[in-house]
Amino acid sequence: MMTVGELSPEGWLEPQRILVILAHPDDPEFFCGAAIARWTAAGHEVRYGLLTHGDKGVKDQPADPQALIALREAEQRAAAAILGVHSIRYLDFADGYLVPDLEARRQVVRLIRQERPQVVVSCDPTNVFVHDTYINHPDHRAAGQLVMDAVFPAAGNPMFFPELLAEGLQPWSAREVWFSLTAQPNVRLDVTAYWEQRLRALHEHRSQVGADLAAFDERQRSAHTEDSTPDAPRYEHGFRRVVFRQ
Ligand SMILES: [Zn+2]
Repeated sequence: MMTVGELSPEGWLEPQRILVILAHPDDPEFFCGAAIARWTAAGHEVRYGLLTHGDKGVKDQPADPQALIALREAEQRAAAAILGVHSIRYLDFADGYLVPDLEARRQVVRLIRQERPQVVVSCDPTNVFVHDTYINHPDHRAAGQLVMDAVFPAAGNPMFFPELLAEGLQPWSAREVWFSLTAQPNVRLDVTAYWEQRLRALHEHRSQVGADLAAFDERQRSAHTEDSTPDAPRYEHGFRRVVFRQ
């Protein structure tokens, strides 16, 4: 286990407040769950801000949205607990219809000014085609765009959304942003030691990962790095990291 202050790719010498802002319950665990486990193990405080409740997260049959919201909140609480996450907040946008408009940006700016993170984590809004097998969900792209535009320049600039000042929310500039789910990583974190913890957290999202956990685990374990050997698989999360010049 790495401790705060030790040399690490992150280079963080003090405990950080890390705010993960993504579209759906389960996005943090899928996109960067092992990195979250690595960070909490090192003494950093990780909080979630989820933009929707994932209330369209079913495949075949329509479901009661209120029941699905309650289920997905419970699943997310259990998954986050396994990763050592400090808190979870929801912004209540409608699942599937997230749009990076000014009202949504205002709400993400409010969240950032309330939580005052040094590090913001989201996902890469430019990533459309993932692994030739998946079109990146429009909510994921919208979430990444919203977070990118809220962090800079709006959250740190008092001229943006002056009504937030009237709420007592002072400008806040995060020092860095990490975009997960990217095709253009400039940081690859070795998260081998936390891969199984990530799988345990993902298992809590039972409504999403299906009943066949063995098959799910096999797929997830096959996502090792190319230099892995069968006896010693290695796992990474790639990020596009932006550290703002002070
Ligand atoms: Zn999602």
